Amino acid sequence: MKLTTREKTALLFEGIVTIVLLLLLNLALLVLLLQSVQSNPGLRDGIFIIKRSIVIGPMHYQLWSWENVFITIMAIVDVIVLWWRLRRRYHQMELHHIIDELHYIAEGHLDHRIPFTLKGDTQRVVDSVNHLVDSVIQSLQDERDIEKSKDDLITNVSHDIRTPLTSIIGYLGLIEEKQYHSESDLLKYTHTAYMKSKQMKSLVDDLFEYTKVRQTDTPLSINPIDIVAMMEQIAASFELEAEKKRMTITAKSNVKSLKIEADAEKLSRVFNNLIGNALKYGKGADRIVLKTTQIDENDVELRFSNNGEPIPKESLKAVFERFYRVEGSRSKETGGTGLGLAIAQSIVILHGGYIFVESDPQWTTFVIHLPIHHDHPLVDEKEARSGNLSLSQREG
Ligand code: ATP
Ligand code: MG
Repeated sequence: MKLTTREKTALLFEGIVTIVLLLLLNLALLVLLLQSVQSNPGLRDGIFIIKRSIVIGPMHYQLWSWENVFITIMAIVDVIVLWWRLRRRYHQMELHHIIDELHYIAEGHLDHRIPFTLKGDTQRVVDSVNHLVDSVIQSLQDERDIEKSKDDLITNVSHDIRTPLTSIIGYLGLIEEKQYHSESDLLKYTHTAYMKSKQMKSLVDDLFEYTKVRQTDTPLSINPIDIVAMMEQIAASFELEAEKKRMTITAKSNVKSLKIEADAEKLSRVFNNLIGNALKYGKGADRIVLKTTQIDENDVELRFSNNGEPIPKESLKAVFERFYRVEGSRSKETGGTGLGLAIAQSIVILHGGYIFVESDPQWTTFVIHLPIHHDHPLVDEKEARSGNLSLSQREG
């Protein structure tokens, strides 16, 4: 910390005043003592008198007369008092500097930090203040992000609801105004309106599910489940659908069976979406492979791979974001909402695990790591949510 000229002068003045006062005090004490010693000669030979003399040739030096002892003690006390007073004054100045800096920050200069370093506890105060300002800025930024993400959510939802709703209103309008020529026309219009309503329902359901699993206190119904059997079952349940698309689906595992503590219903929501995605988006794919690997006593890895065209590098980072769909996926046939992977990620995080995607020209693989014991999460939930991107950004 740098003192201003005024502070330096004040410190000097304080020093001089203290020295003058101390000298006066010393003098007064000395005079008092001298008088009492003179008026009471017995004292001279008492405990106050220390006689040490050395002899050099014919000279006798009396080194430690009581006066010398007294003066030495007084000098030491004086130095201590002087140092203590100057130090106290200097501390006050430090505090004033900190208060000035605080006022400056409080006036709205939130990018300002207390720039100087001090000694001891005062430095801890400075560090705490700087840290506090950092936290305030971070919370402000977080709040802004949340606000923005809410706005984005509303924009996306209204857009995704408006499109089918417009077409429902259009077709119902045609029916209302009897603008159809035959019964088959009428059936076609009602069918389209019906399909669009279902699409809206699925969006609303997804949205509901998404907001539910996003909450950190969402209750999971944890039960022991055999994850190997579950992966085999889910693969079997998609066999027919895969066949229709001329694809094969197989499940492999490095263990015969493996019990993990998890919410089977929520996990099957994740697996259904991943396999559904592989079927919908695996362009040119003819194989889907599910692989279960026990990594260690508390970590199981589940891989959902499909061959075919890779997910573009720039999209790998974003597929877990809600409403994100890779360019071109917003077609009618595949018409998803873009919430599936966001929901999947939240469910995996609720389980204490993590999910990421790897994609190369041969295989696109969604990799999930789950803890085998629910009370020993692999990652901290808060960290996983804040570091969502870093996990989903991992590429093969
Ligand atoms: P929803 O699952 O909500 O019905 P969706 O399937 O479009 O909709 P997500 O499951 O979140 O949404 O997937 C997001 C996007 O990621 C998809 O639109 C698609 O573009 C891309 N994607 C997901 N899985 C694959 C895959 N296996 N191969 C290629 N692209 C994929
Ligand atoms: Mg999906």
